[in-house]
Amino acid sequence: MSRRTFQTFNPKKNHFNSEVYTCHSEKDANLLLIKSEKAFSLLQKKSNDDIHCLLVAIVDKLESKKIALRNIYIEETGLSIDRFDSEFQRTINQTLLFAEYIISDSYILKQECKNETQNKLLIKKKVGIGPVLIIGASNFPLAYSTIGGDSIAALAGKNPIIVKAHPYHTGTSLLVSKIIIQVLDELKFPEGSFTHLINDNYEFGQFLATHKTIKAIGFTGSFQGGQAFMKYGIDRAQPIPVFSEMGSVNPVVILESFFKEMNHDLPKQIAYAICNDSGQFCTKPGLLFIPKVKGFKTLVTQIKDEILSFENQPMLHPEIQRNFEKKIENLKQVFTNSELTIEKHHKTKQSYYPRKSMLTTEITALKNQSVLHEEVFGPHLTVLLYEDEQELETQLKTLKGQLTFSIYTASVQNETIIDSLTEIGSKMAGRIIFNGLPTGVEVCCSMQHGGPYPSSSDSRFTAVGPHSIERFQRSVTFQNNRI
Ligand code: NAP
Repeated sequence: MSRRTFQTFNPKKNHFNSEVYTCHSEKDANLLLIKSEKAFSLLQKKSNDDIHCLLVAIVDKLESKKIALRNIYIEETGLSIDRFDSEFQRTINQTLLFAEYIISDSYILKQECKNETQNKLLIKKKVGIGPVLIIGASNFPLAYSTIGGDSIAALAGKNPIIVKAHPYHTGTSLLVSKIIIQVLDELKFPEGSFTHLINDNYEFGQFLATHKTIKAIGFTGSFQGGQAFMKYGIDRAQPIPVFSEMGSVNPVVILESFFKEMNHDLPKQIAYAICNDSGQFCTKPGLLFIPKVKGFKTLVTQIKDEILSFENQPMLHPEIQRNFEKKIENLKQVFTNSELTIEKHHKTKQSYYPRKSMLTTEITALKNQSVLHEEVFGPHLTVLLYEDEQELETQLKTLKGQLTFSIYTASVQNETIIDSLTEIGSKMAGRIIFNGLPTGVEVCCSMQHGGPYPSSSDSRFTAVGPHSIERFQRSVTFQNNRI
């Protein structure tokens, strides 16, 4: 029987790319997963120095293939060279950060804990969790994909990884996979330490997620996808942890006190966060709360003008474009033309350049319109106008779990509102930002990327920064009874 094939898509040029990819079958995966299982025991015996050298060597090889990676990345995503450069650099930096972290005293100290009683010696050690399935998102073909944060975290925990390539950037993923496999071979790491699988349908993802060899899943993507993987993880003979990093509406609040100090560039900065790379970021601000104080109408108009005049950029792939249009259609069903402004049809642009939009309505709409609580992945902003801070607090409390929460306030602020918003934010989000927008996630130990459900499946962990390794480790106590 001939195998399924597929091609990736160039949204800028509006055509399929020439390379044809052949799907792996379940039988192929079964054979490769046997190797992952074998590799697990051998990887556990590797020292932290060995893993450090592996990560550094991967970085060197990635650097040497930068141009080839750039070409295919751009072809498969429609993203710009600048965007490639910054994501590539982030990928390099985060890999090196993990490499240094696992040989640091602070990490090594956390790997073992010892207690002695009169007749017992107890040593608790961190061990790897087992083969980890990695499902990456389309919007970060490098930093949240084949050699993205989840992959490095799982490898740093000495676990074999099984990457299912994202169908819309399979070529980029394949090139990265070849680099990793070459480095593993050169450093004599066990076969099966890294497995790369290609298939463009959901059933294959489900098959992998429910395979007995897989012991944890790192998922980055949409709410629907994250939910599906959480279900796969639990509906197994042996349920496993699934770390689903999904999206959120990342509320941004402007307080009345901030109006007096407002930086004139703020509308431009907001438009950039909404429209850059067509707003395809999990940290894109989705809801902006503006008080009805003197000057608010001017601010709303300025933001709208900046958004509508922002240079159009394509969406990553047809599916994302369809989902974006569906979400805007849902808003159209509920809100009037005077509330929802949509950019005019493009005359000269290709099909995959979305029409940017902004909705301006009363904060009370949050109560009845569930559509406002959902992420709109793409260049859209919803502005919610509020009368007073009590109303603001009441409505903020109705929001679900968020990756981020931003508060714009005067530099000297005595009002108790800051305390109560900070408390609301701490319950609701993983990161609270003062006088800033949520896009641009720093990769460091103090970054918390992940909040209460539904932004993430497990708010106790971060998906960004070296502490994300903890998701792919468990503890074993070795107890020695003295007779
Ligand atoms: P997506 O549609 O959920 O796809 C992600 C991956 O999941 C793809 O490989 C897809 O497989 C697979 N998948 C989705 N649903 C599935 C199902 N029911 N069964 C099996 N596999 C399934 O997400 P995306 O469009 O690539 O990425 C955009 C989303 O990612 C946005 O919502 C964004 O907020 C989120 N994101 C979150 C973070 C974060 O850190 N929280 C970071 C980046 C992006 P197939 O393609 O084979 O269908």
